This record gives sequence, C-alpha cells and structure tokens, in this order.
Amino acid sequence: MGRRRGVSLSLPPSLLIVLFYFGAFSHVNGRINLTGPSPTPINRDLYHTSDGLMEQIKALVHRHPDKLSLEKFSGKNKGYHAEMTVVTYCRNRKQMHDKSKYRILLSFGQHGRELITSELALRILSILSKEKSLPNIDSLSLHDIFERLVIKVVPMENMNGRELVEAGDLCERRNGRGVDLNRNWSVDWGKKEKDYDPYEENPGIAPFSEPETQMMRKLCVTFEPHIWINVHSGMEALFMPYDHKNTTPDGLASYRMKLMLQRLNHLHCKDRCLVGSGGGSVGYLAHGTATDYMYDIARVPMAFTFEIYGDGTASAKDCFKMFNPVDLITFNRVLNDWSAAFIAMFNMSTHQLDELRSNTTNTTVSNLDKFVSIDDYLNGYLMERRSRYGKKMEVLDVGMQEIRTYFRLFLLSSVLLLLMFCSRISKSSRHIVSGHMAARCPCSYGICKTDEKTTLRDLPTVNYYYYYYSGY
Ligand SMILES: [Zn+2]
Repeated sequence: MGRRRGVSLSLPPSLLIVLFYFGAFSHVNGRINLTGPSPTPINRDLYHTSDGLMEQIKALVHRHPDKLSLEKFSGKNKGYHAEMTVVTYCRNRKQMHDKSKYRILLSFGQHGRELITSELALRILSILSKEKSLPNIDSLSLHDIFERLVIKVVPMENMNGRELVEAGDLCERRNGRGVDLNRNWSVDWGKKEKDYDPYEENPGIAPFSEPETQMMRKLCVTFEPHIWINVHSGMEALFMPYDHKNTTPDGLASYRMKLMLQRLNHLHCKDRCLVGSGGGSVGYLAHGTATDYMYDIARVPMAFTFEIYGDGTASAKDCFKMFNPVDLITFNRVLNDWSAAFIAMFNMSTHQLDELRSNTTNTTVSNLDKFVSIDDYLNGYLMERRSRYGKKMEVLDVGMQEIRTYFRLFLLSSVLLLLMFCSRISKSSRHIVSGHMAARCPCSYGICKTDEKTTLRDLPTVNYYYYYYSGY
C-alpha cells in the first residue's frame, strides 16, 4: 500500500476531505506534481543512513545476545541481487522455538522512501532490549507481554530501493529494479485499476518475481507468524485485509480485529487514523499486496498494514516531507506514539488470540474455518502445509503454474472417464437389471438412468473448494 495518487473524483466528498486531511498521497498512488517548492532533503540530524541504521542494529544485537539474534538472507533473480537482515527477539533466546509463544512478524521499509518506518524498527528493538523505555509506561508491566512473544523484525525490507532514495531519488518506493514490493505477491496479482501508475505500482513480471518478496515469503513460511504487520508511511492508518477488495473478511475473528484497531486508534492515534480494510478505506484497491497474502494464503490470523505518518500538505514532489517527519518534535512524537501503539497492540492481540484459541478448541466448527479455493490451495496453502509429524514440506517455489494446469487436466479427465464408465455400465446392464443397476450408478455424479437414454441432467457444478480448518 502507500502510493501517491491523484484522488479519484468518484470518491464521496466526505472521504475526499478525510483523505486530504490525512494525506491521501500516502504509500498510496499518485502522479507527480512538478510545481511547488523544492524538495526537502533527508534530514541527517534525525535519520540514520541505511548503513548507519544497520550498524546500530547490529551493535544492539551484539549487546543483548540473550534476547536478540540476527540473520542475513540474500536472493537473486536474473542478475538482480538483494539482501535482507532479520532480527529475532525472544526474552530468553533459548525459548525461541517454544511453540506456546505467539510469533509476530514485522516488516519496515518495504517502500524505499518511507525512512521513518526503519527508524521505528530500531526504536522498537531498543525497547524490547530495554535500552529505551516507553514514556509513561513502567517497563516492569511489559515483562508479562514480552515473555509470551517471539518477534521477528525486518528493519529494512527494501534495501536496494532505499539506496536509490539516499542517492537522491527521494520519491522512489520500488525496489532496485523498479518493482513495487507491495504489489508482487500472489493474491489478485497484476490486476490494474484505471488509474494504474507503473512508476508507483509495477507488480513485476510474475508473483514473487522479486528476491525481496521471495525472502519474505520464505520467512513467513518457516516462521508461521500469528501476527503480521506491514509498516508504511504516507498517511495515518490502521488497515486490515483486504487491500484488493472493498471489504473486510467475514466472521467474528475479523470483527474483533476491527474492534482492536478502533481501540488502538482511540488510545494511540487520537482518532486520527483511518481504520478498516485497506481497499475500503483509502479509496482505491491494491492488488498483490503482502498483507492480503499473509491473511488469505499464509493464514496468518491477524494481518495488518500500519501507516505511521503522512504530511498531506506537502507538495507531491516533496516526497521526503510527504512520507517522513522533518522536525525533531514530530520525529520523536511519531516514534514514541507508534512504539507505544505497537506494544499495546502486542498485548491486545495476544489476549484476542487466547480467546480465539479457546473458542477454537471448544467448538467443532470454528469461526476461523475457511474455504480455500483450489487456486489458493495450490498457490499457497499447499506450500505451507506440514506433514502430520510436524516436518515442513519443501517449499514449491517453481512450477506452480504447471502443477495447476496438470491438476485441472487430471480433474477433467477423471470426470470424463467416470462419465464413460457409467455410460458403459448402464448400457450393458440395461437389459438385465434395468432400474436396479441404474440406481447403483453414482447419481451423485449426475448420471442417472431415467428411461432408454442415459442423461446428464442435474450434473452438479464441480466445486473447486475444499474445506479448511484453520487451527492455530
Ligand atoms: Zn508504503
């Protein structure tokens, strides 16, 4: 999410006012306005360089080896290379793989120009390691919350894009080869709205074409988070699925998610934040986003996109100002408010997950149950499915398209064979047992002998949906 965009005239007036007020030109969409004042440069008194930020994070991890650990990943595709650093927090690192803990995955800096988000990542890691405290909150009260969590933080998902921004292209949000990493995921990938802007939203040549997206997917598959937050800037908002349609998911779990966001908005955003589905709240739909994938395919029970800052008064070409605080007071206010919001969110969501978990174990059919379409099944669910012994199945990174095709051909040929088989049986048995044999022919497949001819009446539509029980 989070493109700069010209606001559609079809939006209701009230929404236009809200969008203008909160800076609709967010990680959203938009056209570059070439008039207006000179762009504001990156304020180096406030913001680290990307190297400096990563050095700070490494030093922090080094000082707290009991709580923090750091991993580096790299990936490449057709000559394009990307790296990613992931920091894992667990209050007692030896318990990092304790399955009773809730797992949280946070991504910052998915869009290059949103520098403030990576500063927030550093602040949250400093709070988790107790080097910094939250204003007005007793750190002892955080003990119980942190004890229950394992948190993976990706402080700078789009390192190559950020490099371009620091080299002077302050409006760049895409990765090092021009792909928007928040449009490169598989849910509704590649669909283009009327106001599609390739400068902002290029989805890549295929879902997961980009090494950064591949690494994030792999991280999700191996870590299996209960909570996902994709952190952006450009506006102030607490979004939940869906981004690709104008609605939130059905069911009690989704309803509770929304209530929690409304509470967070009241307590930590002073009711300034937009709350709701990304697609329904911003006024445009976003296709192929990370949060929709996390919720729909990876089955992360609580998946969000948080937008932590936006300056709607900034000129459309003044990207640093539009997406990042430029003065010390606002910079500190954003980091303090949002680190408090994140910690409060960890607390609320773990309680909510406790309730959902107990409801799930107390009912045979849970509200979390979902139908998974065959495409979703093959795109994602199959990849993350575990064997009954808990051993992870190998991730199927390639050949999904072919598998889908073969599976459809297999289904089609099975149906045809069945039709031929039943037709043969009914013909050969017509003179012997007449109606008796026909009754044994599988009417449930729509083939019933009614008179001299075998007919295909009432052939049911092949249902491509499987019932899936989401038991986390
Ligand atoms: Zn963004």
